[in-house]
Amino acid sequence: MAPAQQLNCDHGQRRHTIVESLLTDVFHGRIQAGQHLVTQELAERFGVSHTPIREALITMAGIGVIDLQPNRGAIVRRVSGREVREVCLVRKALECEATRSACGKIERADLLSLSQDLKRLTAPTSRTGARFIARAREVDTRLHDLIAGSCGNTFLVNELKRLNILFRTFRDVSWQHDSDRQDYHRLTEEAREHQAIVDALLAEKRVEATRAMSYHIRSGIKHWSKALPTSASGGQQHVTTLSSRKLSSTTSKQNR
Ligand SMILES: [Zn+2]
Repeated sequence: MAPAQQLNCDHGQRRHTIVESLLTDVFHGRIQAGQHLVTQELAERFGVSHTPIREALITMAGIGVIDLQPNRGAIVRRVSGREVREVCLVRKALECEATRSACGKIERADLLSLSQDLKRLTAPTSRTGARFIARAREVDTRLHDLIAGSCGNTFLVNELKRLNILFRTFRDVSWQHDSDRQDYHRLTEEAREHQAIVDALLAEKRVEATRAMSYHIRSGIKHWSKALPTSASGGQQHVTTLSSRKLSSTTSKQNR
């Protein structure tokens, strides 16, 4: 059993941190498809009671990464290139609608600040290292949250919030994969894609902004799939795959 893992977060963030940690293990292949997740073992690993573990497992079932079955507990689903593609297509639909609705409603000062930060990210001097990744992550999160927060559709915002932990863990795992290989090409590419979105939003060109967002999400598909371990994309396990129907389900109650 894995040693206890110190949770460096406040009480309210525990569930989120546990989900993030388990998702990272799934995407790195440290937790395999078909594997049972045992509440008692996870409680010992994270040094918490059963309650936040159960909450974390319900969240993971809600985003389609595990199956919760009566008497059998939590079983990890397969995450392969196909599932990543399905996740990205659902994300594209949501993010494009958010961009379309938000265009013309976002504070200009917020867009200009993002634009400045993106220019810094694409400057030749700053395109490597852990700090570059941390800044790119912060700007990515800020831009997508700003668009979602300005779209005026509460249902859409909540759906994006519910799925963001999945999208952002994919993002972080794939960027870690790049960092391990000292390959920062995709990060610079993403900053340019973000810049195109911000420029179109500043110009209040709705069609252009939506198209730029669509391109941005689609270009991530190949990249995210590449970061998956071979064992997770090989398709050897006889388990149910993630489904876009499940991902787009709005019945879960575990929004942050
Ligand atoms: Zn992005």
